[in-house]
Amino acid sequence: MKRTSLLLGVVCIFLVTACTNQDDTLEYDKEMKRHSLISSAYEEKDVPTKKQITLAAVGDMLIHDRVYRDAQTEDGYDFKPMLKEVKPYLDHPTVTFANQETMIGGDGLPVASYPSFNSPVEVGDALKHMGVDVVSIANNHTLDHGEVAIQHATRHWNEIDMMYVGAHKDKKDRNELRIYNTEEGISVAFLAYTYGTNGIPVPDGKDYLVNLINRKQMKQDIAEATERADVVVLSLHFGKEYKRMPSKEQKSLAQFAADQGVDVILGHHPHVLQPVDWVEGAEGNKTFVAYSLGNFLSGQYDHYRRIGGVLQLTIVKDEQDQGVVEVTSPKFLPTYVKDDQENDYRVLPMFSLSNDILPDAKEHYEKIKNHIAQWTPELEFIEEK
Ligand SMILES: [Zn+2]
Repeated sequence: MKRTSLLLGVVCIFLVTACTNQDDTLEYDKEMKRHSLISSAYEEKDVPTKKQITLAAVGDMLIHDRVYRDAQTEDGYDFKPMLKEVKPYLDHPTVTFANQETMIGGDGLPVASYPSFNSPVEVGDALKHMGVDVVSIANNHTLDHGEVAIQHATRHWNEIDMMYVGAHKDKKDRNELRIYNTEEGISVAFLAYTYGTNGIPVPDGKDYLVNLINRKQMKQDIAEATERADVVVLSLHFGKEYKRMPSKEQKSLAQFAADQGVDVILGHHPHVLQPVDWVEGAEGNKTFVAYSLGNFLSGQYDHYRRIGGVLQLTIVKDEQDQGVVEVTSPKFLPTYVKDDQENDYRVLPMFSLSNDILPDAKEHYEKIKNHIAQWTPELEFIEEK
C-alpha cells in the first residue's frame, strides 16, 4: 500500500513538472537515468559473496641444547634470528599454526634437552614475533617435566596471547573449544591430540593436561567443532619417527577424521616430511592431509631431519551457498635447518640454498618436491622471496 501511494506521488510530481518547465523536465530525466544506471549497475555487479583466508602450518619446534645455547644472550635467549628468513611466510597468512614439541617450562625449571625437554619461554616469544597464531602442545614430550611445566607453559602462552591447543591447565580450559575468528568472518576451530607421552602416565583425574588420541573423544570434539566453526583443523601427533611415508595407523586416523568432517589434518612427530594428500570422507567431503610436516627448527643432524616446510592452504567461504567452505590451492615452501658446527642455526627456504650450505642443493630440493607432491601433482611450491 505504501509503495502505491509513493508511486502515485512521483507520477504527479513528474506530470506537474513536465507541464510547467521544460528545463526542469530535462533535469528530471537525467536524474531518472542516473538512478536507473546506478540501480542496474548495482544489480549487475557481482556482490561479493565469497570470502577467503590463508591457513599456514609448520611442523616441529624441537629445541635441543645446541639450539638454545646458540640462542643465548646476556640476559636470556633470542630465537628470532634463527627464523628471520622464513618470517614473511609465517606472517602473511591469515592464521599460522606451529607444533611446539617442547614445553616452554619457564622460570623455576632448568632448561633441558633430549630426552626430557624443557625450553626457554623465549621460543614462544619468537613464534609470536614471527606471526604464529596457534600452537599445538599435545605431543609425546608434553609430560616430560610433569604438570608444573604445563602450568608454566600455558601461563606464558596466555601472557603473550597465543592460542594453544591440546594441553590445558584445568578442566575448564580443556572444555573451551579453540576457535580462531578472522577479520574476514571465517572461523577456524583447532583440535590437537597425541598418540602418547613417552610412557609417562597422565596424572590420575587430570586428563585435561594432555589430549590423547581417542576416537570416541575425538568424534565428540569434532562434532562440536564442525557445529560451531566454519573450518575444522585437526593437529595429530602420530606416525613413526624418521619414516618418510605414513603408517597404516596414520592413514586410518586420517580416514576417520575425514569421515567426521574435518577439513584439514596437520600431522607431526616423524621429524621428516611425508607426502600430502586429499582424503575423501564418508559424505564425499574432501580433507587435506599433511601426514608429517617435518622438523621446522631442531638440532637434529640427519639430512631429512633438517628439512621441514611451510604449508599454505586457501580457505574460501561462500556466504550465499549456505556458508559452504572449501579448502583449495595447497602450496608448500620446503625449508632447511642449517648450522655451522652447532652455531648460527638458521631456518632457510630450500629454493634459496647455495651449494656452500648444502652440496647439490638444487638436486636435493627437487627430490624433496617430488617426495611431498607424489600424490598431489597440483601442489604448488612457493619460490618467491
Ligand atoms: Zn614427537
